[in-house]
Amino acid sequence: MIRTIISGATIAAVDALGTEHASGWVAFDDAEIVGVGGGLPPEWAVRGHGPAGETLAAPPTIELIDGTGHLLTPGLINTHHHLYQWLTRGWAQDSILFDWLVALYPAWSMIDADLVEAGAEAAIAVLARSGCTTVADHHYVFPAGSGDILGGIVAAASRVGVRLHGTRGLMDLGRSQGGLPPDFAVETTGAALQASADAVEKYHDPAREAMVQIAIAPCSPFSVTSDLLSEAAVLARSLDVRLHTHGSETVEEDAFCLEKWGKTPTQYLDDLGWLGDDVWMAHCVHLDDHAIGRFAATGTGVAHCPSSNARLAAGIAPVPQLLAAGVPVGLGVDGSASNESGQLGTEIRNAVLMNRLRAGADGMTGRQGLYIATMGGARVLGRQNEIGSIEVGKLADLVLWRVDGVEHAGIADPVAALTLGAQPPVTKLFVHGRVVVDDGELARVDERGVARAATRAATALAQRAGVLA
Ligand SMILES: [Zn+2]
Repeated sequence: MIRTIISGATIAAVDALGTEHASGWVAFDDAEIVGVGGGLPPEWAVRGHGPAGETLAAPPTIELIDGTGHLLTPGLINTHHHLYQWLTRGWAQDSILFDWLVALYPAWSMIDADLVEAGAEAAIAVLARSGCTTVADHHYVFPAGSGDILGGIVAAASRVGVRLHGTRGLMDLGRSQGGLPPDFAVETTGAALQASADAVEKYHDPAREAMVQIAIAPCSPFSVTSDLLSEAAVLARSLDVRLHTHGSETVEEDAFCLEKWGKTPTQYLDDLGWLGDDVWMAHCVHLDDHAIGRFAATGTGVAHCPSSNARLAAGIAPVPQLLAAGVPVGLGVDGSASNESGQLGTEIRNAVLMNRLRAGADGMTGRQGLYIATMGGARVLGRQNEIGSIEVGKLADLVLWRVDGVEHAGIADPVAALTLGAQPPVTKLFVHGRVVVDDGELARVDERGVARAATRAATALAQRAGVLA
């Protein structure tokens, strides 16, 4: 067993009390946090004993890390992404959601497992380098004969070393049936549901320490049928996995749902069994008071994606009202084709700034931004007992941010360095107690090789789509 002790860092634990230490320590044995506090690490920790001073049957090997000049936070949790979109960054740069989707569907329908794996690995690499330890991905394009796309995403996450909440997404409402995606990009209802059950069987790990979990994730109200939504909810609950979709992203989606079903997206999803504490939805920009009340009453989670919402001019989600109502809210970068940055650390600042634009100077504090990026995200993914805060008994998913460099040295508040300042360099990123980023560089994969593979895959897809000769 290896006991890692980090000392001398400012610690933001993001626990229920909002505990912070101006200078403190944390100790973890392999993957589990065994102690955290202010000041110097206690003797039992340094001597390799148990917390009551007891001698352990197998004394651990001690690794000491000097955290001076650093801020230590829980690992950031990304609650919404489309990793495959790494291959189509920079396309349709000035469009709203529906036009952007229509421009991109044809290229997306030409992806395969190898291309997605290369793009996903680059997207995950950038997430890890920006402080992210858990990645939720929403994948919903499965062209016929494209191979095991979900398997490629699982492999990419495993290589980089992050925790993955993958999804088996679904689309069965093509344009000829009144949906938005072209018919060639959708599956039949039955095939999509069967593939979802197969994906859960193959990749979902229900264990507390799981590195891979799978949710079932119809794409959006305008790309799936009502039958698929209600049957997916029944299926997910029978398999004891979570449900995910997009909801209330744009005014055009509101208009679509009102015209087709005479309901808002939330009323429509509510009627199909789609609100509950096993559900999280991306965006939720256009929620009225009734919808916020229903999210709160049911414990339905929200993935807030401020940069993507800005890129597609979708609006600003009412996060202060959601938090005040007790709705679980996490942070997400969304797909890389609507947020070319792909960095999660920077989304904290973007969330704070955008919510202040909507709700005023007290709309969101920096610490609320850090909360949604960590503990809020853990609640959204149903992992609040395992990750999201620095507490004894939780898994060692941690970020050591350097805040004594030229960007942040002398700042009055090290937490503000992360939540309001430039994204600090990541000196160490631990996932499950293992080093994934070391001194700003990926520790488990060759970064240049990942970049080259992503370039080859993006070029190949552009050629298939006829964008490049
Ligand atoms: Zn999305």
